[in-house]
Amino acid sequence: MAQLIDGKAFAARQLAAITTEVASLPFQPGLAVVLVGDDPASQVYVRNKARQTVQVGMRSFEHRLAGDISQEELRQLVERLNADPAVHGILVQLPLPKHLDPEQIIAAIDPAKDVDGLTVTNAGLLAAGQSGLVPCTPLGCMLLLEDVLGDLTGLHAVVVGRSNLVGKPIAQLLLARNCTVTIAHSRTRNLAELCRSADILVAAVGRPEMVKGDWIKPGATVIDVGINRVSGADGKSRLVGDVAFDEAKDFAGHLTPVPGGVGPMTIACLLRNTLTAAKRQHRYSGA
Ligand code: NDP
Repeated sequence: MAQLIDGKAFAARQLAAITTEVASLPFQPGLAVVLVGDDPASQVYVRNKARQTVQVGMRSFEHRLAGDISQEELRQLVERLNADPAVHGILVQLPLPKHLDPEQIIAAIDPAKDVDGLTVTNAGLLAAGQSGLVPCTPLGCMLLLEDVLGDLTGLHAVVVGRSNLVGKPIAQLLLARNCTVTIAHSRTRNLAELCRSADILVAAVGRPEMVKGDWIKPGATVIDVGINRVSGADGKSRLVGDVAFDEAKDFAGHLTPVPGGVGPMTIACLLRNTLTAAKRQHRYSGA
């Protein structure tokens, strides 16, 4: 029976540590979140981010924009936030409405304020093993893995999913911790067999309960990044991961639940990145 990795409790400890550090700073870190349109899920995310930003003692700047804003207007807002010294971190909530080009908008964000770690500069720094800002969910996964396993050297990690937001950066971080890393995706052959060779299995696919129990090597550590809303037989909707939890718990050594695993770590790491960005912008290295 797998031990559950309690991301909620771990994130709460992270937030407490961030709160203490923020209180000790001679300046107040600020995070700007930009939401375009009225996507209900994005509204919930943005509200939660703003609430937690204030709770750790940072300033929160919310920019809610109409869904029909032009690319140029949005780019100009990002430029203003780049130039604002009270704003240390900028997050543009994705997905954007179809008429906007997310790549161009992300490219407009100053890499020093790119707390989502999505600019080409920060992706390049990560790939080159240099210090930039690392995407929040991958950073959260690594903190959980290191907490559970300590030294990851020599372990075989299989990452299912190769998105710029999740799969690729997780693979880079695991490589930097001396794992032997295999990245799988929708064209991978013999996926189940490949997963069975993993000491660390990360599922970041977006397909409900795709990874079955018998895909997991007995005792492996399984990180389920997926968040999928499905409706049950009773007609009620619930959240499930990319891993078939009820099966996986009989095989894995450690396993993240959904919800309550990776999810809570994402906001904690966003605030951690905002703190890091603020300290760098103030050239602050401690009291
Ligand atoms: P994307 O849709 O961008 O990427 C999905 C990846 O999964 C792609 O690389 C795709 O391969 C691969 N894939 C799709 N189908 C299969 C398959 N049948 N077999 C193997 N690989 C497959 O999703 P994201 O990376 O953005 O997100 C992944 C999941 O993580 C989602 O459920 C999302 O909701 C969740 N998420 C959770 C967060 C959190 O805070 N916990 C934060 C961000 C995301 P290919 O490249 O070949 O198409």
